[in-house]
Amino acid sequence: MTEMDYYEILEIERTATQDEIKKAYRKMALKYHPDRNPDDKEAEEKFKLVNEAYQVLSDEQKRAVYDRYGKQGLEGQGFHGFEGQSYEDIMDDLSAIFESVFGGGFTGRRSGRSQGDRYNLDLSAEMEISFKEAVFGAKKELKYRYKKPCEACKGTGAKDGNVKTCEYCNGQGQVYMRQGFMTFAQTCPQCHGSGQTVAEKCKECAGKGYKEVETTITVDIPEGVDDGNRLRIPAAGNVGVGGRRGDLYITFYVEEDEHFIRNGDDIYLEVPVFFTQAVLGDKITIPTLRGEKELNLPRGARDKQQFVFRGEGVRNVHSGQLGNLIAQIRIVYPQNLNEDQEKLLRELQESFGIESKPHESIFESAFEKIKGWFKKEK
Ligand SMILES: [Zn+2]
Ligand SMILES: [Zn+2]
Repeated sequence: MTEMDYYEILEIERTATQDEIKKAYRKMALKYHPDRNPDDKEAEEKFKLVNEAYQVLSDEQKRAVYDRYGKQGLEGQGFHGFEGQSYEDIMDDLSAIFESVFGGGFTGRRSGRSQGDRYNLDLSAEMEISFKEAVFGAKKELKYRYKKPCEACKGTGAKDGNVKTCEYCNGQGQVYMRQGFMTFAQTCPQCHGSGQTVAEKCKECAGKGYKEVETTITVDIPEGVDDGNRLRIPAAGNVGVGGRRGDLYITFYVEEDEHFIRNGDDIYLEVPVFFTQAVLGDKITIPTLRGEKELNLPRGARDKQQFVFRGEGVRNVHSGQLGNLIAQIRIVYPQNLNEDQEKLLRELQESFGIESKPHESIFESAFEKIKGWFKKEK
């Protein structure tokens, strides 16, 4: 197979500026976009190439390598274009590139609504999971509802599938309103954009054209997932009139844990320590995500002092690297003292002498200084 030159694909000079590259990409991507060329294999191939070319040429570093060593040079750096990837994955990657160049609103074929569908094929669902399920991953059932075309009317919403072209908009789905010298396009108020009207509503679906089906799937929750993360389940969304099925996007909501507080991949744990332990130092056994650890409390530990246990946090859902566990000390003082305890503490205080009254030595010089200030004023 002959390889097409990236500059030729985008129909630009080798000296093109980034602005020119972007402009050329917009033009060619729109020309070959699958939404505009349904079921056209050649356009699909071209569309992939256009995007591959843009990925390389819009990145000055990749472009420099390509200019010098061609595509082989890039492959040496791990860039393989879209070879061997599934169409779904490519479209996923491409919608991100698209949004950065076109500013959203123009999505890949799979994620958008295709012609004739009354609803978006992609579906979103929410899933509440426990702290443990998020940290370690789990398999959990999710019950949700998806839409599929009504069989009785083949998704048209009309009795026996009898539809007429909408007379109001001549089947365009849009009407044009003139105000002064301006013309505005508006969705047709009669057919709501479908371009078709229904003589008699389908009784099966009350004219909606679709039915809702309840289903249950087992979701493989990845280890390390965090609150607000989204998971895509391919081909588990709504079914279109043509039989194509959109994706299901699950957003996770993670319950809080009583002891462990999560911040990204790190876990915070508050460790209450009695004031005598803080003074004397101690060995404390603390709970971790995966068991127990010994915390060596040094003599004179401070309140809010932190001790880091590397690799005892959450496994990052993308990189697989482990975060840390951070144990933070909270010094606890006795709320009540009995007579004996009070006596012991007073004796202890006296035994420290001047050290037990740090404010006296520190403030002594301050008192002197302030006296000086008053003298100066008068
Ligand atoms: Zn129906
Ligand atoms: Zn209409």
